[in-house]
Amino acid sequence: KSPLIKKRFEDKIKELNLDNEVQVVVTGCFGLCEEGPIVIIYPEGTFYARMTVERVDEIAEEHLLKGRIVRKYLYDESAKNEQIKPLSEVDFYKKQKRVALRNCGIINPENINEYIALDGYMALGKVLTEMTPDEVIKLVKDSGLKGRGGAGFSTGMKWGFAAPNKADQKYVICNADEGDPGAFMDRSVLEGDPHAVLEAMAIAGYAIGATKGFIYVRAEYPIAVHRLEIAIKQAKLLGLLGNNLFNSGFDFDVEIRLGAGAFVCGEETALMQSIEGKRGMSRNKPPFPANKGLWGKPTIINNVETLANVPQIILNGPEWFKSFGTEKSPGTKVFALGGKINNTGLVEVPMGTSLREVIYDIGGGCPNHKEFKAVQTGGPSGGCLTKDHLDIPIDYENLTAVGSMMGSGGMIVMDEDNCMVDIAKFFLDFTVDESCGKCTPCREGTKRMLEILEKITEGKGTMEDLDKLEKLSMNIKETSLCGLGQTAPNPVLSTLKYFRDEYEAHVKEKR
Ligand code: SF4
Repeated sequence: KSPLIKKRFEDKIKELNLDNEVQVVVTGCFGLCEEGPIVIIYPEGTFYARMTVERVDEIAEEHLLKGRIVRKYLYDESAKNEQIKPLSEVDFYKKQKRVALRNCGIINPENINEYIALDGYMALGKVLTEMTPDEVIKLVKDSGLKGRGGAGFSTGMKWGFAAPNKADQKYVICNADEGDPGAFMDRSVLEGDPHAVLEAMAIAGYAIGATKGFIYVRAEYPIAVHRLEIAIKQAKLLGLLGNNLFNSGFDFDVEIRLGAGAFVCGEETALMQSIEGKRGMSRNKPPFPANKGLWGKPTIINNVETLANVPQIILNGPEWFKSFGTEKSPGTKVFALGGKINNTGLVEVPMGTSLREVIYDIGGGCPNHKEFKAVQTGGPSGGCLTKDHLDIPIDYENLTAVGSMMGSGGMIVMDEDNCMVDIAKFFLDFTVDESCGKCTPCREGTKRMLEILEKITEGKGTMEDLDKLEKLSMNIKETSLCGLGQTAPNPVLSTLKYFRDEYEAHVKEKR
């Protein structure tokens, strides 16, 4: 719908002779997917939701021409009869803190000047003209930034491992192979603010001594790929990628590599194999990529959201970054909120925000007044949490402690109608499909688990099957080669732990 809405606005603006005063700008996602397509009219920031082509003429004639807000199409219900609230005070946004998403929905991602106007490439200029590589690494370390792709490893430490390694070539890779069901955080950053990622990659390159970067992005994200291509071209034209950046003598270039949709290629060793033109399969670590990565050279791999934080950390300093979030997990986290939730969308909150705040205050709770039952965090590698966990402050440590994980940020909400055994089966089915097949525990073990789950959901299971599921899960976790297998049993284990009664209700003896 959006291109049609844009075209109708442009035609109508011309028809009303407003083309010298009003400009239509396409931006990335503003987060509130449930209410899309969204049109925001500046300078006042009027937020029209659920736009249709049919509404365009009325909004153009009333609002753009006569300055009268068309209240019936506004997003914020309460604003229909009162003064319009700034977006920062609207329920969906007021508990959010946008760092990685700061420009998404604000700038035209296909125009580098809009990024530059909001301090874009200033952080790169600062590191190249005022800082040594060691100072950059120290600053990122001091900020406490952890990898947002799932593992939560210190970004500054990772850079610090690669920097001292001597090699004729080093690499920076941006992992944009976002494959979790229900996750679209990285996609939104790339579609809404691609230069933030390019700028951060160049900063990382300078810090570790790499002159070449690759963005490994899913081919299923054509808009993200298109905008990245435009962004790389524009940055090169302005001398912000390429040779002798900011007259510092530092060269950095970026290429895009398309992933073909294999979930395992989000795992860093499989991803590097794929870039090298081989079948994407994980390998043992060590050697770690920082020592021996792409084509055997020192390489760092950072996720999209991690990188999107970097320019702001450089510009504002580590203390600023640590001023929100928790002591062990500073900063913010982006979540893709989906499933049985009123406000489906993309949210960025300070670490330490509770699940209750995300699900109720921002997400608006479950639709049709249904009762909340569980939330799956961390995608197929994560686990299901219950009502009892709603007040846990979300950070890496707390989610792991209760049997789930942060993962990359997928958050799928379930209500009273969802069967938790079916949910576990859905995620296991996904990992069985996506196992690369290299190691036996993951390749065979997850299949056996799925067979047991199928037996249980068909009413043919026994109580012994629940024990078998638990034993198999522990074996697979302990003996699989890579993160995919090591975390694949998590949805089963967490549902067995918190919703065992539902498994028991399925098994034969109970029927
Ligand atoms: Fe492949 Fe699974 Fe083994 Fe990872 S754990 S190497 S995905 S078979």
